Amino acid sequence: MFDLIYRIDPDAPSAKPPKTAKAAWKRLEDGNRAFASVSDIHRHTQTEPHIITLNAEALGLAKADGTAPKQTPFAAVLGCADARVPIELIFSQAANDLFVVRVAGNVLGAECLGSLDFAVSNLGGSLRLLVVLGHTGCGAVAGAVKAFMEPHMYLDFATSHPLRAVLERILVAVRAAHRALEQVYSQDVEQIPGYEDALRETAVVLNTAMMAASLKKEFCDSMGPQLAVAYGVYNLVTRCVSLTQKSQNDTNVQLAAPPENSDGFDKLGLQIAKSDMIRRMLRIE
Ligand SMILES: [Zn+2]
Repeated sequence: MFDLIYRIDPDAPSAKPPKTAKAAWKRLEDGNRAFASVSDIHRHTQTEPHIITLNAEALGLAKADGTAPKQTPFAAVLGCADARVPIELIFSQAANDLFVVRVAGNVLGAECLGSLDFAVSNLGGSLRLLVVLGHTGCGAVAGAVKAFMEPHMYLDFATSHPLRAVLERILVAVRAAHRALEQVYSQDVEQIPGYEDALRETAVVLNTAMMAASLKKEFCDSMGPQLAVAYGVYNLVTRCVSLTQKSQNDTNVQLAAPPENSDGFDKLGLQIAKSDMIRRMLRIE
C-alpha cells in the first residue's frame, strides 16, 4: 500500500510557478520521478506518502469575492487520450499547473493545434513549456502499425473519417520506424519475431517527436527564449517518462528536445532501433 495525497491548505503560501523554460522542464521531470518512485510497489517500503499540494486559489476556494482564479499553467501538454496516462497525476501536478490537450495517438489535428495556439497566444504570462507526451503500448499507434503491415486493412478504414483522422497522421512515423529497423537489422526485419512490437514502440517515439517538432515549427515566430518544446514517452510499466527504458527496473526520467531536421529524425530512429528496449523485443541479445 502507498498513499498519494492531494493536499489543500488555504493558509499555505502559493507555490511559485517556474519562471523559465528550463525550470518548467525540470519541474515536470522531478514530478514524474516522484510519481514513479512512490508508486513502485516492488521497491518502496511504504513510509512516506506522496503529497501533491493543490493551491486553494486555483480551485476557487480562497476567493471570498466569488471571482474565478486566473488561468496560469506553466506548461501545455499534448497527450494521448489513453485512460492509463493521466497527465497531471504522472507529473505530480495539480489544478492550474498544466494546460492539457488529449487525443488518441497524441496527433496534432486542427482542433488540438487551435487549443495549443490559444495557450501560446493567451497564457504567455505563465506558459514556459510545450510538451508532447506519447506512451508505450499506444493503441492508436498499434492501429497504424496494423494498417502498415497489412495493406488490405487500408480498405477497412478508407471510408471511416474518424479512423483516418488519427491513423493517417501516425503512418508517417510508422514508415520512418520501419526504415530505421531495416537499416539497423536487415531488409527482412519484418520476419523477426517481435517485429510488430518493435515497430510500434519505435513509431511511438518518432510520432511523439514529430508532433513536438511540428509544434516548434508552428509556433516558431511567437516563441522567444522563454518558451521551449519538449517530448517524452510515458512507460506504462515503469511509469517513467523518457525515450526508451533499458529494463523494467530502469527509472531514468528525461524529456527531450525534438530533432531539428530530417537528419535528426533519421538519427533518432536509428538510436531507438538500436536501443536495448527494441533489441529485447526482437529477442536480440
Ligand atoms: Zn495512446
